[in-house]
Amino acid sequence: MASPASSSASSSSLMWFRKGLRIHDNPALQHAASRARGPLYPVFVIDPRYMEPDRAAFSPGSPRAGVNRIRFLLECLADLDAGLRRLGSRLLVLKGEPGEVLIRCLDEWNVDRLCFEHDTEPYYQALDKKVKNFASAAGIETFSPVSHTLFDPADVIARNGGKPPLSYQSFLKLAGKPSWEGSPLSTMLSSVPPVGDVGRCEVFEVPTLIELGYDETEQDDVAPFRGGETAALTRMKEALSNKAWVADFEKPKGDPSAFYKPATTVLSPYLKFGCLSSRYFYQCLQDIYKDVNKHTSPPVSLLGQLLWRDFFYTAAFGTPNFDKMKGNRICKQIPWSDDEQLLAAWREARTGYPWIDAIMVQLRKWGWMHHLARHCVACFLTRGDLFVHWEKGRDVFERLLIDSDWAVNNGNWLWLSCSSFFYQYNRIYSPITFGKKYDPNGSYIRHFLPVLKDMPKEYIYEPWKAPLSIQTKAKCIIGRDYPNPVVSHDSASKECRRKLAEAYAVNQRLNGMVSDEDLKSLRRKLEEDQEKEPRNTKQRRKRSG
Ligand code: FAD
Repeated sequence: MASPASSSASSSSLMWFRKGLRIHDNPALQHAASRARGPLYPVFVIDPRYMEPDRAAFSPGSPRAGVNRIRFLLECLADLDAGLRRLGSRLLVLKGEPGEVLIRCLDEWNVDRLCFEHDTEPYYQALDKKVKNFASAAGIETFSPVSHTLFDPADVIARNGGKPPLSYQSFLKLAGKPSWEGSPLSTMLSSVPPVGDVGRCEVFEVPTLIELGYDETEQDDVAPFRGGETAALTRMKEALSNKAWVADFEKPKGDPSAFYKPATTVLSPYLKFGCLSSRYFYQCLQDIYKDVNKHTSPPVSLLGQLLWRDFFYTAAFGTPNFDKMKGNRICKQIPWSDDEQLLAAWREARTGYPWIDAIMVQLRKWGWMHHLARHCVACFLTRGDLFVHWEKGRDVFERLLIDSDWAVNNGNWLWLSCSSFFYQYNRIYSPITFGKKYDPNGSYIRHFLPVLKDMPKEYIYEPWKAPLSIQTKAKCIIGRDYPNPVVSHDSASKECRRKLAEAYAVNQRLNGMVSDEDLKSLRRKLEEDQEKEPRNTKQRRKRSG
């Protein structure tokens, strides 16, 4: 057992990497490196539940993550290892349940100081409590700074009397300027103390996907984004090299169908794993804003996007059961359907709406889509067309996105399903006309759904309307090579609006205190009303087989 007595001249430190997979602006690593008088152990623990293959899952990957994100994470780890080696150290990879492995290392290596980035996710809160309890009983100093976000969510919540702000504008007002803004961030480290003897702990090199048990041929198209701090900094510098683009950036004006050169930065997977410091990104943006005559402002500016991230982190940290409908006081209680067939059609890109299906293929193959594309498919699954529970869609995104982020993903699903933050349920994205506005020729659809590549542009968004002779010429018979629509958008969206209106009325009448029984009877009523409608979604579904 490590004891305070061992903190002599040769005191040792452990830097525990989880997110924050970077060397620049990493206060935990900085602290560990500058205080160490003895060895410094940089550790990453591979949790088999997160990383090892699960053949029963609906897509290649582990029980928790799709293979694209696992590959991205391994690339981040390999790059971090290379960065540490340049500084005279290396990354020690261990395997097992992270809390248990870490406690074993602290004990075995007689560690005096444990450093890791603070994390607000419930999973890490529980894990960190366990590890901190052990450390405190063993007399090990812990240092756990907030550096994943621009602000400390706990601070913002405290300034608001203990409640998280629930609108972006009130968040901005409360948050103000980041406390670190005036002082320069430490973006360089000149050296890191060498690793000590690892004793009986089994330490690995960063594994490859194949070493983790994956078959590299499991996927036919992989995400075109490489993981790691080096790629993150290169990508950010490239994006910011065009100052006019940064100054004029207006999120709602971006083209969601642009995929060779996406309309936004694609920095989200790097921010998710912390290969890029959001604070460094913020500082670089501020430097550009100082240099130009005028620039856009939050919420639509590029800086505004980063602030959305902090907004959701703060709301998530201050809201119990943020990732659920039940027990979540900011979430409307809505009797969503649990139709597994509709969910599967959406998840497997078989809705019959090419715009929706192409986005779902991009999700499966790349693990990244433009923000407005995410809007379209999330709206379609929930309040727009299929009326399926947002938690089901959230799960699919959580698994397949390479930027999958607990606070941001849940926050956006709450938003898009009109369960929280945004309540204009009458505003529904059309699965036909929305994409057409940006990409009338359907190049995006042709790329991600090659079965439709020869469909004339007149029918690319509504191929079921093409005469049979055209379908034959395009070598794509609807109903055989590509499905008929699972629902008719016009009637399904009308139904959804009606259901949302009723559910909102119940939530208002009961002041949000909707019980299971209330939800059940509302569901019954909505079903009865739907039975009375002759042209309902179910009939349409039967027709399209
Ligand atoms: P840019 O426009 O270049 O923005 C820069 C950064 O700002 C992003 O990298 C991201 O960190 C942050 N940001 C941008 N938009 C948002 C937003 N709406 N909310 C919070 N932060 C934002 N983003 C994730 O990072 N992880 C998720 O799991 C995730 N799930 C989503 C689920 C749904 C249903 C929707 C509608 C959106 C989701 N987003 C998620 C938000 C957003 O779509 C992505 O952050 C963005 O598309 C990433 O692309 P980018 O890096 O090019 O963004």
